Amino acid sequence: MIVENKGQQQSVRFIVDTDRCCGCRRCIRRCMENVWQWDEEHHHAYPKYPDECVLCLQCEMDCLNNVIDIYPIATLQIDPLEFSAGHLTEADIVRRD
Ligand code: SF4
Ligand code: SF4
Repeated sequence: MIVENKGQQQSVRFIVDTDRCCGCRRCIRRCMENVWQWDEEHHHAYPKYPDECVLCLQCEMDCLNNVIDIYPIATLQIDPLEFSAGHLTEADIVRRD
């Protein structure tokens, strides 16, 4: 399962190997942002609210089965307020690798 959040604060990609999830629910207990939920139908945890993720990586570190991989997604290296005010042009936009 791949879940992406392309929110304004953090842009994050979750790669969750649900077949390896043992159901311990450590990720759900650990996440202070309540990103994780339990899927009753398929019997695994999943990031239901990825927009709330602050990239602390606690869930990834606490999962003993290495189910969770979290990566930041490339984001623009500009101040959105400055860009929207018209002080920057398309040529000023630089993307991170
Ligand atoms: S910590 Fe890992 S194994 Fe435990 S419920 Fe979460 S994803 Fe599944
Ligand atoms: S990285 Fe942190 S905020 Fe994001 S889902 Fe995991 S525990 Fe929650």
